[in-house]
Amino acid sequence: EKSYSEGNVKQSVLKNVNLEIQKGEIVIILGRSGSGKSTLLNIISGIDRPDKGEVNIAGLNLSSLNEKELTGFRRKKIGFVFQFFNLVPTLNVKDNLSLPLVLNKISDNGKTEFLLKAVELEKRSLAYPDTLSGGEQQRIAIARSLIHDPEIILADEPTGNLDEKTGNKIISLFHSLVREKNKTLIMVTHNRDLMKIADRVLTIKDGSFQEYREEN
Ligand code: ADP
Ligand code: MG
Repeated sequence: EKSYSEGNVKQSVLKNVNLEIQKGEIVIILGRSGSGKSTLLNIISGIDRPDKGEVNIAGLNLSSLNEKELTGFRRKKIGFVFQFFNLVPTLNVKDNLSLPLVLNKISDNGKTEFLLKAVELEKRSLAYPDTLSGGEQQRIAIARSLIHDPEIILADEPTGNLDEKTGNKIISLFHSLVREKNKTLIMVTHNRDLMKIADRVLTIKDGSFQEYREEN
């Protein structure tokens, strides 16, 4: 459960959310704007804490971790594509991309170069985020979520700013990586092509989940 209070108004965002996801699953989350999709991803990743209930990942109860342990866990095990990218404005493209390697003290061994190519931004490697288009920033954010080889990738509308062709490339990249390496992908998206690669599609409504049904 999660609610937010503003002044004396309390808004209940998530209630009765009970979700079990297997390793290697691709799960897509749908729901109207404001329904709590980003809130849920933040709670799964430990960026935010639930008011009630717990998140268990590979047997680890996130509520038993202090802030420092939680940060360490998230840094290592989770790749996150934020809805609004969250690139570091003072770092260029290459350094934004390799940040998870630096933070985790993992050697590069060509990883940055490989992913820069995969998202077709090798020519912009020295550019700063404020000079990139929304789609370019999103491609970096996507590459950055994969670079440290996390077990779980959480993606909040990852193709929202991409044209169809680039979007499809990113989808295949996610798809092949997730399947080959048995990663778990939890993604908020309304992209129909992305929905095709999902094992499960869930809709969040009035604070809880329903299995998705095609409405036509
Ligand atoms: P979605 O991603 O589905 O569009 P969000 O999870 O971002 O929805 O938000 C769900 C609801 O919670 C919205 O009504 C939003 O305004 C509210 N909300 C989200 N974050 C906060 C916050 N930090 N403080 C207050 N209200 C918030
Ligand atoms: Mg959102």
